[in-house]
Amino acid sequence: MSIVPSPLDNDSCDIAIRASFLHFRGDPDLDGDAPEYLEDGLMILKQGRIQMLVEAEDWIDLLPDGSALYDYHGRLVMPGFVDCHTHYPQSEMIASHGLQLLDWLEKYTFPTEARFAERDHADRIAAFFCEQMLKNGTTTSAVFATVHPQSVDAIFTRALDLDLCLVAGKLMMDRNAPEPLRDTPESAYRDSSELISRWHLKGRGYYAVSPRFAACSSEAQLEICGQLLEEHPDLYLQSHVAENRDEVTWVAELFPDSRSYLDVYDRFGLLGPRAIYGHCIHLDETDRARLGASGAAIAFCPTSNLFLGSGLFSLADAEEHGIRVGLASDVGAGTSFGMLQTMAEAYKVCQLAGQQLSPLKAFYLATLGAARALYLDHRIGNFEVGKEADLVVLDLDATELLQCRMENAASLEERLFALMMLGDDRCIQATHVMGKRQHSRTLP
Ligand SMILES: [Zn+2]
Repeated sequence: MSIVPSPLDNDSCDIAIRASFLHFRGDPDLDGDAPEYLEDGLMILKQGRIQMLVEAEDWIDLLPDGSALYDYHGRLVMPGFVDCHTHYPQSEMIASHGLQLLDWLEKYTFPTEARFAERDHADRIAAFFCEQMLKNGTTTSAVFATVHPQSVDAIFTRALDLDLCLVAGKLMMDRNAPEPLRDTPESAYRDSSELISRWHLKGRGYYAVSPRFAACSSEAQLEICGQLLEEHPDLYLQSHVAENRDEVTWVAELFPDSRSYLDVYDRFGLLGPRAIYGHCIHLDETDRARLGASGAAIAFCPTSNLFLGSGLFSLADAEEHGIRVGLASDVGAGTSFGMLQTMAEAYKVCQLAGQQLSPLKAFYLATLGAARALYLDHRIGNFEVGKEADLVVLDLDATELLQCRMENAASLEERLFALMMLGDDRCIQATHVMGKRQHSRTLP
């Protein structure tokens, strides 16, 4: 017996979206859950939340008067992309030539970040960064600001204006950095505490305690990080670990009593759920087991790792230990704001490491997988009923080359693979945040 749909009314629908839809209900490799795909689907939204995702032909005539219909016929709608690790203040220094991590920080990063002492500058770059997120279909990011509290105010203010989901925090750095960029354990504690009360859980914002990396923080400052997490157990923590071999050696010299680089953070209570560590390339089995057991997540930053020549992240090793992994752009060492290019480089990193990244897994790592890494999958990451309607409208025919390739693609997987290898921001037709269209591509 077929179910006769009951008519919708304005209490259950204020926005409807018609398109092809694809989203994940689990890890396509590990959980065995097939993604849900609707060739001609209709998503019903109310106050920014998903009410239903159904076959369009059964429901399109039942939409109530007064609801807005976005007709993206022929386009593919997926959950908005989630970027697990990036630096908005580095937007202006993306693609700076020729160095590896430690020299690159000295020569390019520190002078660029020093400009964020000026609130006007921070506001301008925060606006640019959020615009780039939306143009690339990214609706959630975990973001480092600079050491200046006003740089945190700037990015949260802009994200709040756009209703973007954002994890962000003030960099902490009390040594091995130029004087104007240094804080102290005391000032870091005071400034972070004020920022937490101002921004944590405001709108869709979450505060992240953000020591840059162990080499830039004294033991006293790392202790402060642990203290903040104890005082506010629902905070995030974000940092970097084991990105570059010289960095690993340096941290071993600075913390001779620690078993490993990761162990430095562990000693100060900085591993656990909602802790996000960028890179995690040069880890050993003990480190991986500890990460997996702790519930901390890895931000896999392939464009950055290739650009700085840092090394090849092993996705298979992380999965073996049950570690949560999400994709990340890591701008400005990363070379793109776009998660499509990030997926393409992730594929190549896996190839060089002797591993295969399927297109379904790549899109999972940029949506539900990344939402799980950030412990936000109860709110975002797929199209389950009740979730917040962040979504990206993808045009798989955006360029002549894509059109040519798509004509020769037999399956959805093949089309997704061509999209991630050849696509860029031209493929992002629109981006919706909490149901509302915040970006719409204008064609030349
Ligand atoms: Zn980073």
